[in-house]
Amino acid sequence: STAEYQAMDAAHHIHAFLDQKALNEEGARVITRGQGLYLWDSEGKKYLDGMSGLWCTNVGYGRPELIEAATRQLQQLSYYNMFFHTTHPAVVELSERLFSLLPGSYSHVIYTNSGSEANEVLIRTVRRFWDVMGQPDKKIFIGRHNGYHGSTVGSASLGGMAFMHEMGNLPIPGVEHIAEPYWYAHGGKLSPAEFGLKCAQELEAKILQLGADKVAAFVAEPFQGAGGMIFPPESYWPEIQRICKKYDVLLCADEVIGGFGRTGEWFAHQHFDFQPDTLSIAKGLTSGYIPMGGLVLSRRMAEALVAKGGVFAHGLTYSGHPVAAAVALANLDVLQGEGMVEAVKQDTGPYLQACLRQIFAEHPLVGDIQGTGMVAALQLCEDKASRQLFANEDDIGWRCRTHGFDEGLIIRSTHGRMIMAPALAITRSEIDELLDKTRRAVDRTAQELGL
Ligand code: PLP
Repeated sequence: STAEYQAMDAAHHIHAFLDQKALNEEGARVITRGQGLYLWDSEGKKYLDGMSGLWCTNVGYGRPELIEAATRQLQQLSYYNMFFHTTHPAVVELSERLFSLLPGSYSHVIYTNSGSEANEVLIRTVRRFWDVMGQPDKKIFIGRHNGYHGSTVGSASLGGMAFMHEMGNLPIPGVEHIAEPYWYAHGGKLSPAEFGLKCAQELEAKILQLGADKVAAFVAEPFQGAGGMIFPPESYWPEIQRICKKYDVLLCADEVIGGFGRTGEWFAHQHFDFQPDTLSIAKGLTSGYIPMGGLVLSRRMAEALVAKGGVFAHGLTYSGHPVAAAVALANLDVLQGEGMVEAVKQDTGPYLQACLRQIFAEHPLVGDIQGTGMVAALQLCEDKASRQLFANEDDIGWRCRTHGFDEGLIIRSTHGRMIMAPALAITRSEIDELLDKTRRAVDRTAQELGL
């Protein structure tokens, strides 16, 4: 029964990013089934999953193609490693396909099991690259406040979540942070374009302060996700690109949530029109059916590491796992075969974004609407005219999310922003349902606040 599952869960399981004691008192929702865009809990309640799990089930739940690919691969070769001068067909075919989706400037990938691991691998790979290039002093990484790159020591250090840093004596030495480019909250009287340039130029100031000969890389999400969704002003990325080129600082894009079609392009950096040196990938690579991530390297980096690098003392038991690789390949078959990324760009994405703006532009609780393709956020605000945010924004967002659950909807709240990132497989009528339920959750929150 639900109560038994909740009691067993409370007895043994530490959850992610939650007050465990409060959760145990409330009892976790037990999710038992998923199909398409929908989830069901152990009480039989149905939810429209407006977050595609954790921005990952890009093809939706329960696709037989992915399930059959996993089964076939488990029967054929359930596991093998890359350590003994060995490889296997599933991983070779996946890599071939992956690079067919990327323009010519990328050539190699190091596979991992998650996004956090991809960013751990990033730290060592970038430092190794600069060693091989004869610049061993280039060791420092610059990330952004409120960026999120994972939960492990290195990845949480690259990220800029203060409360994560406080719990674990982070960041590790050699990681610095600059401002997040969130015009709505921090832009003041500057125009978005001016503010975008100002934020990017903080990177230049930081590089000059630390010394360009010491800075290895700048790491950021093309659009910021878990730290409160932020789409930077258009002026931001071209200026960042210019600065990284000028000082020969690697530009590392965390594509863990932006990759595999979320913005209507295969990768989010393509949407923002810049050219990173590395891409950290995970989530949508397998639509979350099985864990897999990776670090994609530019030709320049790969050539240095392969031609001149010798042994790179790095390896993971499950790197390029055959079952994960087979599922990833089947996932890409579905995404490509059904034209899901094109649909997000040309049809469902513009539809979602236009309807959101139509419904919420005048809403008293919604100060700003951001997003593109199949990802969007509503900024809840106390006073629309002055862009005044709530002092207790997490609490307000949390309430709105809870109303969503009551309405049979899963949306996420971070920093007072209500985020939606449904599966790319969503139809127009499912978008209508998503918006209808979101509207009701936001209205209920506004009513409680007397707005
Ligand atoms: N990078 C970004 C941008 C993420 O959003 C996440 C997770 O949400 C990660 C990295 C970490 O990925 P994982 O949870 O697979 O370790």
